[in-house]
Amino acid sequence: MVKVGVPRALSYYRYFPLWKTLLEGVGAEVVLSRRTARGLLEDGVRHCVDDICVPVKLYFGHLMDLKDRVDRLFVSRIVSVEKCESETYTCPKLIGLPDMVKGSLDGLPPLLEFVVDVQNRSLKSSARKLAGELGAPAPVARKALAASLEQQSRYERELLRGRAPESAMETIFANGNGDSSRREREPEKAGDVTIALVGHEYLIHDPFVSHDLPGKLSRLGANTLLMSQVPAEVIAAELDRYPGISWSYEKELLGAASHFLGRPDVDGVMLVIGFACGPDSIIGEIINREVRGPESPPLTTLVLDEHTGEAGVATRVEAFVDLIRRSRKHRRPGS
Ligand code: SF4
Repeated sequence: MVKVGVPRALSYYRYFPLWKTLLEGVGAEVVLSRRTARGLLEDGVRHCVDDICVPVKLYFGHLMDLKDRVDRLFVSRIVSVEKCESETYTCPKLIGLPDMVKGSLDGLPPLLEFVVDVQNRSLKSSARKLAGELGAPAPVARKALAASLEQQSRYERELLRGRAPESAMETIFANGNGDSSRREREPEKAGDVTIALVGHEYLIHDPFVSHDLPGKLSRLGANTLLMSQVPAEVIAAELDRYPGISWSYEKELLGAASHFLGRPDVDGVMLVIGFACGPDSIIGEIINREVRGPESPPLTTLVLDEHTGEAGVATRVEAFVDLIRRSRKHRRPGS
């Protein structure tokens, strides 16, 4: 069986159930890279150009971790993810990822490229091409794609219920039919403040690079809301007020921030962005200047890169939670 390595970075957090089910459906064995650790990140930094964002550096580190253990390396090229009238794209790094890998890293096993470009080609044709490279015929590819899309939908339902990506993956891979609604209840809200996290899942949910931001908030007694809990139609309605953005994933950030900043049960919003990320820096400015209003809850921006220390993140998070608690006390009548 061909061993195909999948890096635990970038699109892993959003699409791994689809990648894994598809690859296994066409007869491959999936090997995941190890969790991010200092050495893995340093490896990525060493093999990348300097001025690239930390998620791409991390991706390179995960490829290096896999390269001697697999026959092929799965690398996605995510060009467009929305079928709409206007032209929309993902970030240039995600579009050119296989080219960056080929241009920067030597001695890798052959890449197995999977293209997502829904504005210009069907997922069926991408699945057929991938299956063909692994020696599987078109009917097998069709069946594997149908199963992988179902698994991806189950995963997205778990995310909507507030599950973190890897916890949602555990559920759907453990429960054959993925229906956890009767087995698990929504986590109880136990904290006294509620903070919404807005940022790419590959930053927030890599516990090494975010220094376990969701866990830190929870240990401080805060409830956390995630972007993936906001339904697509809610984000779309928010975006009616901010037309003209053509980066699909950044539109999600903008729509989710606008939604959270207008919710009465949200006490604060943390915008988490990667240093050297062009799209996020522009969206961050729009959120700060145009979305946040005088009545909005507090908003803070946390910029992460490979030099960000744990103490720095802890201090920022503690200060933000403290500020929210104090401002609420001041707002209390008679205090
Ligand atoms: S959106 Fe930003 S953080 Fe994500 S890959 Fe592109 S440049 Fe990097």
